[in-house]
Amino acid sequence: MAGPSPLPPFAAIVVAAGKGLRVGGSTPKQFRAWHGKPLIRHSVEALEAAGANPLMVVVAQDAQDHVEQALTGIEGLTFVTGGVTRQDSVRCGLEALASASPERVLIHDAARPDLPHAVVDRLLTALDGHAGAIPVLPVVDSLAIASGSVMAGKAERETLRRVQTPQAFRFVDILAAHRAWIDATDAGDDAQVFMASSGSVALVDGDERLKKITFAEDFVNTAPLPAFRIGQGFDVHRLEPGEELWLGGVLIPHDKGLAGHSDADVALHAITDAVLGAVGEGDIGTHFPPSDPQWRGARSGRFLEHAVSLARGAGYVVANVDLTLICEEPKIGPHRPAMRTEVARLMGLAENAVSIKATTTEKLGFTGRGEGIAAQAIVCVTLANEGTSTWPTG
Ligand code: MG
Repeated sequence: MAGPSPLPPFAAIVVAAGKGLRVGGSTPKQFRAWHGKPLIRHSVEALEAAGANPLMVVVAQDAQDHVEQALTGIEGLTFVTGGVTRQDSVRCGLEALASASPERVLIHDAARPDLPHAVVDRLLTALDGHAGAIPVLPVVDSLAIASGSVMAGKAERETLRRVQTPQAFRFVDILAAHRAWIDATDAGDDAQVFMASSGSVALVDGDERLKKITFAEDFVNTAPLPAFRIGQGFDVHRLEPGEELWLGGVLIPHDKGLAGHSDADVALHAITDAVLGAVGEGDIGTHFPPSDPQWRGARSGRFLEHAVSLARGAGYVVANVDLTLICEEPKIGPHRPAMRTEVARLMGLAENAVSIKATTTEKLGFTGRGEGIAAQAIVCVTLANEGTSTWPTG
């Protein structure tokens, strides 16, 4: 992937003067921790990294302590005291920028912490041909017009867009628009103020990651996830005459097979437990209890696929698996390629991410006497992100 493209110079205003108490508690939400940092710090750092200069932060008069704590160590910020409404606060920020008189300005809400560089790029590029530009997303749900709790009609979603911030403007034009704003009500955003003074606003693609953090549940489980995690699994099944021998999802011809409630595939069970272990999701018995008759004779590939999907739900994808089978017989070597192919298929991995090894125990112990087969597996999972778009959906 190419690195960030160079951007034209721009100033930015982060608006953080709201009370933000809808999330509950007495601390305004913009100063509460989200993914390990105060919410406002994410927005300010993203704009600083994109090159915003000057970078103004508009704060409520009584929030100075919170702001200094939340943004400690970030150089070159200018703090401006906000007004009663959001629109007042933005105007305060714009007036404070007037002496610097930048050509372009981005106005951003502190409560949209995850600001992709590409959105900033699209906004600034759009300002080449327009005096204003805003990031928008389509409406995918159908829309109902409510009359109390009854549907009174439908709205056409095709012409509607969800509007995000930052919003980008040529500085002199947005300053003039805010100075001229005389509507008695608070503006929903700066694009509305800008349009009221006949400014043309371009629409560029927004990003779902720019979601506004609004409710208490947005703050739940937001500790930063580690980049990778490791899990290990171990399993043993008894070898008995008259049973089929399933290993690594492959039926292997042998005079004995593994006994167990499911197909007793000791290799897939060890890998399944390793995946579950990596994401702290219990063990195979938690999800597929042997007491449940529906798993009698079940193919163990289902267990493994389920574990991989649980890992995905926890935000991780499997990076690689390393399996060791422990037995005297059968010889594993001839079956290794087929097992590798099947394990890779079940886990959505390339074959070179699957290692299958085998050892004997020198005729010692239960594996040495041929009473059973043991397997141990180690799995590494890495944080899922944009780079994993090839993850199978089937
Ligand atoms: Mg087992």
